[in-house]
Amino acid sequence: MIVTIKRNSNPVQIERLTRWIKNLGLECHMSEGEKSTVIGLVGDTSKVDIDLLRSLEIVEAVTRIQEPYKNANRKFHPDDTIVDVKGVKFGGSHFQIIAGPCSIETEKQVIGIAEAVKAAGASVLRGGAFKPRTSPYAFQGLGLKGLEILKKASRETGLPIVTEIMSEKYIDAFADVDIIQIGARNMQNFDLLKAVGKLRKPILLKRGLANTIEEWLMSAEYIMSEGNNEIILCERGIRTFEPYTRNTLDLSAIPLLKEKTHLPIIVDPSHASGLSRLVKPLSLASVGVGADGLMIEVHNDPQHALCDGAQSLRPDQFADVVKAVDVMLPLVNKERDK
Ligand code: PEP
Ligand code: MN
Repeated sequence: MIVTIKRNSNPVQIERLTRWIKNLGLECHMSEGEKSTVIGLVGDTSKVDIDLLRSLEIVEAVTRIQEPYKNANRKFHPDDTIVDVKGVKFGGSHFQIIAGPCSIETEKQVIGIAEAVKAAGASVLRGGAFKPRTSPYAFQGLGLKGLEILKKASRETGLPIVTEIMSEKYIDAFADVDIIQIGARNMQNFDLLKAVGKLRKPILLKRGLANTIEEWLMSAEYIMSEGNNEIILCERGIRTFEPYTRNTLDLSAIPLLKEKTHLPIIVDPSHASGLSRLVKPLSLASVGVGADGLMIEVHNDPQHALCDGAQSLRPDQFADVVKAVDVMLPLVNKERDK
């Protein structure tokens, strides 16, 4: 249930109202936005006399909500959430481009790519140290050593970093990671979601391979229910019957999510298509549907990459994508930090 408070209401009366709600055994989630102040009532709202609530002087409207996700719901929080990563802002009118290799291979490789993508316009560096591979015989990532390399690349370039965590046991090792990625395969690893929910650090939550938008938002809700509201959603394609692409990019999810949630949403066109030549058109399409950013795999030598070479761009190709994105951004009233 959502209670919208009239503009310029007396804070004492608001406080009296929240106390009354709490005495009914419910939690109050306050959202004081630019447009309005709303109170989200979480818990068993059957005890609330909705007519009585509506009759209060400070109450503008009372709405019942059907969706099972509360904290992630835009009805609870009408303004866009801006996730601030060391001054790099996701959401609202901001547009960010995350780039880097699929996997961290060597220090020279990562630092070289980091410098190139930064020069081309990336604002965050990506790179996997712990890789979720379908085969146990495939390259599994450098693990903790890879994490150290990524941190060094961050120190040298000043770019914040994002990397995937696969197990709760590494939470402490991820202390200096700026954004922790929950990969598609772990989107419903509920213990992991709860564990990162206890952190006060941005989380990049990728959509599961075969998960609905509501399931995805419920995963965000797991993180938020533990108190961490800094979530960036990432659409990375879903499984369909189509074998020509690795996954099918669900572009309609972006404008739909903009209605349903206040959280920022970015697109990963690399994993969505699996084909480097589709990354540019899908990036532009993502801008067109209102995404808050992109995450693109870039490799200095895609043919010899240890993972996902076929979908990785060379730095010059990446720079070309950024230029094209910049042409489109004014059309959707967004700006890339420069
Ligand atoms: C990745 O971003 O490195 C990755 C493994 O992506 P996903 O979880 O979307 O497959
Ligand atoms: Mn990859």
